[in-house]
Amino acid sequence: MNNSSHRLIRYRSLLSALVIALVLGLASGPAAGGAAKPKVAKEKQLVLDWLDKPETIEKFGKISDAIWEYAELGLQEFESSKLLADTLEAAGFTVERGLAGMPTCFVATYGSGKPVIGLLGEFDALPMLSQKGRVPKKDPVVEGAPGHGCGHNAMCTAAAAAAIAVKEAMVAHGIKGTIKVFGSPAEEIVASRPYMIRTGLFEGVDAVIDNHSSDGFGTDYGVGGNALFSTIFTFKGKTAHSAGAPWVGRSALDAVEIMDVATNYLREHLPISQRMHYVILEGGEAPNVVPDKASVWYYVRSTDEGLEDMYRRVVDCAKAGALAAGVELASMRVVSAIHQRHANKAAAELFQKNIELVGMPTWDDEEQAFAKALQKELGAEQKGMPKEVDKLEAPSGMFVGGGSSDVGDVTMIAPTATIGFPGSVPGAIGHHWSNVACFYGSTAWKGLNAGAKAIAASAIDLLTKPEELAKLRKEFEEYSKLHPYKPFLPADAQPPNDLNKELMDKYRSALGKALAGK
Ligand SMILES: [Zn+2]
Repeated sequence: MNNSSHRLIRYRSLLSALVIALVLGLASGPAAGGAAKPKVAKEKQLVLDWLDKPETIEKFGKISDAIWEYAELGLQEFESSKLLADTLEAAGFTVERGLAGMPTCFVATYGSGKPVIGLLGEFDALPMLSQKGRVPKKDPVVEGAPGHGCGHNAMCTAAAAAAIAVKEAMVAHGIKGTIKVFGSPAEEIVASRPYMIRTGLFEGVDAVIDNHSSDGFGTDYGVGGNALFSTIFTFKGKTAHSAGAPWVGRSALDAVEIMDVATNYLREHLPISQRMHYVILEGGEAPNVVPDKASVWYYVRSTDEGLEDMYRRVVDCAKAGALAAGVELASMRVVSAIHQRHANKAAAELFQKNIELVGMPTWDDEEQAFAKALQKELGAEQKGMPKEVDKLEAPSGMFVGGGSSDVGDVTMIAPTATIGFPGSVPGAIGHHWSNVACFYGSTAWKGLNAGAKAIAASAIDLLTKPEELAKLRKEFEEYSKLHPYKPFLPADAQPPNDLNKELMDKYRSALGKALAGK
């Protein structure tokens, strides 16, 4: 916390200028008033007004920037998680920390009884993406260090801001029910939500509002993304002098390489929507010693229906590698296993109305200039920041696979949809330095504020209009009968609290020093 405060003070002059710009920019947004202002219930107007205050925008903007600077990898988000949990606790929420076997997982609760509305919030970074904020060309803070290439720094921050706004309205207007923030670590390794569900953290939750950063402002519904097994295969062989007596040794690395060749042949015979990729975690330390230990980390992705069969065939490739190399397949550690997203249409329709009510933030000249410079650098169309919110469209008729999120499991145990809020530059690339550059400073502040307004307004609807919540519940209950939740996560799997430790330990102090010297 001390480091963070010092760093924040150094940005004070920049931030003051941003705050003035933000106030001017947001004041012209639809939620702040004007002739076209739609009729809004007093409870909802309170959350919009509370989030519109310059001090609110600045407070949560600074939290987002601090988490961006920490750039903590999954399950190493100690400072990020603490900052968010402390903020919610100081605002009157009851916070439980270190849940579901994960030190950085927390749940913050305000109120009691039904209905129970949950907000999801992620806060982890990605490896290798370090980049200076709002610099439109590749320029790392620390070469090789992690960076927020998916905007997760702004995401749990938006959920926390929304939850506190809702609490203010609950107090002022005597609204009954419960609002919860699910502080969800390690989304980038899709590794918290199945464990959180297994522990029972979501029991009794009536509806869930998820959020994700975006280059637009919208929501969607239907089945999307891929289900996934994330597994580390470890082989054990026998060491030997690679030149002196190699016939004595049995190379564990050989097994990894044979497995990888086999899975690459397997690709031809899998459905087109599958995705499969791997990195070698251990493969020996010097060519002149036969490696007796090697491991490879696989992401195996397919539809809910196709995943288990595809995974079984990948396991066969691992066994084949071990057999051919004469080594042992010592372990298959399932880091996580998740379902596709099954987003609720009634939830998306409700969220869309609030997205339209909030409207796209007004971007100033500096923000447009940064966007165009970044678009030029990336060879994208130089169209600046987005002007309008997205329309709610029916899901695409053709499924072509793609990424995964552990929100998928949540969508199967409670009606859930995701509010995508702006901040990124159209043309910037996800999981790439260009997205890291976007999610620091003014556009991230405005984007997360707009997202928080849409989340809070939707939570108010679900808390105060039983007929709206009933629509989500009815759809969910009918859907669940056809698609009951059965976790892919094996019963004995444990959260991978160790997985990113070494990497984060390597960069944590270097990042702190680099930013301190800024
Ligand atoms: Zn993400």
